[in-house]
Amino acid sequence: MNIQVDESLCIGCAMCVSMCESVFAMNEDGISEVIANQVTDEMMEEAEEARDCCPVDAIVIE
Ligand code: SF4
Repeated sequence: MNIQVDESLCIGCAMCVSMCESVFAMNEDGISEVIANQVTDEMMEEAEEARDCCPVDAIVIE
């Protein structure tokens, strides 16, 4: 499984960070980025919830 944020879509609302701070963090440009190297099942569940709540569908999980 691979988690990515599409930087061209992200509007920097920080919702994913508040929902799943072990995977997402805001970078210096105010855009979310994936910070996790290893993703546990629990982290993946949170990341999937964040993806489902992202207002611009910028989170891609493959
Ligand atoms: S929830 Fe979506 S739009 Fe908001 S910071 Fe995260 S990736 Fe960007």
